[in-house]
Amino acid sequence: MSQSRESVVHGSKAAPKDLPSTDKLLRLSEPLLAEHGHSLVAAEARALLDRLRVRAVAGELSQEAVKPERLQALLAERVAARLKPRMQAVLNLTGTVIHTNLGRSLLADAALQDLPRLMAGPNNLEFDLASGGRGDRDSLVEGLLCELTGAEAATVVNNNAAAVLLAIAALARGREVILSRGELVEIGGAFRMPDVMASAGARLVEVGTTNRTHARDYAGAISPETAMLMKVHTSNYQVQGFTAAVEEAELAKIAHAHDLPLVTDLGSGALVDLSQWGLPREPLPQDMLAAGCDVVTFSGDKLLGGPQAGLIVGKREFIERIRKFPMKRALRMSKLPLAALEATLRLYLRPERLTEDLPTLRLLTRPLEAIRNQAEQLQPLLAAALAPRYTVLVREMLGQIGSGSLPVARLPSAGLVIAPVASKGIGTALERLAEALRALPLPVIARIAEDQLWLDLRCLDRADHQAAFIGQLSALQEALA
Ligand SMILES: *Cc1c(COP(=O)(O)O)cnc(C)c1O
Repeated sequence: MSQSRESVVHGSKAAPKDLPSTDKLLRLSEPLLAEHGHSLVAAEARALLDRLRVRAVAGELSQEAVKPERLQALLAERVAARLKPRMQAVLNLTGTVIHTNLGRSLLADAALQDLPRLMAGPNNLEFDLASGGRGDRDSLVEGLLCELTGAEAATVVNNNAAAVLLAIAALARGREVILSRGELVEIGGAFRMPDVMASAGARLVEVGTTNRTHARDYAGAISPETAMLMKVHTSNYQVQGFTAAVEEAELAKIAHAHDLPLVTDLGSGALVDLSQWGLPREPLPQDMLAAGCDVVTFSGDKLLGGPQAGLIVGKREFIERIRKFPMKRALRMSKLPLAALEATLRLYLRPERLTEDLPTLRLLTRPLEAIRNQAEQLQPLLAAALAPRYTVLVREMLGQIGSGSLPVARLPSAGLVIAPVASKGIGTALERLAEALRALPLPVIARIAEDQLWLDLRCLDRADHQAAFIGQLSALQEALA
């Protein structure tokens, strides 16, 4: 009762009794009900009224706020917010091109074009159109993978982590796998080679030391219990200085002399030599196979530039064992990424066009000159939006390829560096700016280093993205006001 007295005292405040019932509010929201049906709209109407009632009881709700138009608008907003996708497009201005947290490789237009048509209806995922009988989903990409890598056979799974797990389980379950101590990689998360070995039911036999492993280390560790020799590409770190490792060609000879397979996890694995564009050379699956590796695994969404996938190529005998291993069924690719993978691999049939067709390569090979010009062009616009509290300068900077590919290589790039003008509270000012950038309709992801916020523009190469970036500057200005 004291509440109603209060609402009398503050004449402009609304009391709980001023709120409509859920039914009344729904009757006022016919168009919303017609569009979305009863369940969602009614649930949101109840939640909205519950919240407003609490505020009315606290004497915090104005008469204005309980007007029918206002309530309808709030309800429409709530319904729209519930239906908003959690996965959103963002602008990656971190300088890391293949950014694991930002969706890794960007898919090519050509890889997406056919997806709606292929996915919305039935397709020949596991159906052999020639014979009319059952087909194998691997066959959609096996030919392409063999052609591109020179392999006898190929199979695909969900991601490269699955490929490694499956290859070890299928070829070495209950037996020993020999691996150098210099290659006991942790990729991130829970994927560490010794643990993967255990999950696959194989026993890891470590040989050599962190920095040096020799051919005799492998040869000396081979026993009747050995199922295979393994190499893991140290994709996210480098051992430098006094080092020695055994190359695949030499290790393959040792393995084959004992009738054992050599399995190599390449991690990223590029299908084309990146050094032709002045980028560091990553080992290619085709080189590994030519060196004598029996099975090579690599990722679909790192340097290859496709969807998440684990590609397994090699000798038919081993690929068949891997394909038939029961775990394969649990790790198989779904039709959605498989269609995108096939379309991505087909782009490699026209290697001269790859830097145009494949976004990952397009971004990695984007000329520094173009990035610098873009920075010059955007600098005055951003400076105006952030004045007077921040300064904006054009700077050359170093980006990276990302996703554990070529860990120490740096990509000469350019962009904008933003610094708070006030010398106090720099950290807070930068966090606030980074937060405001992330809250934009097309969130901008930047990086903070050396008391500055860095926007590397390498990945802002699309005209529509640049237009969106510029179009949001006034919203950014308002957010920071
Ligand atoms: C990235 C990586 C993997 C895992 O590949 P995903 O496709 O991310 O599952 C495995 N091994 C190495 C060496 C890697 O770099």
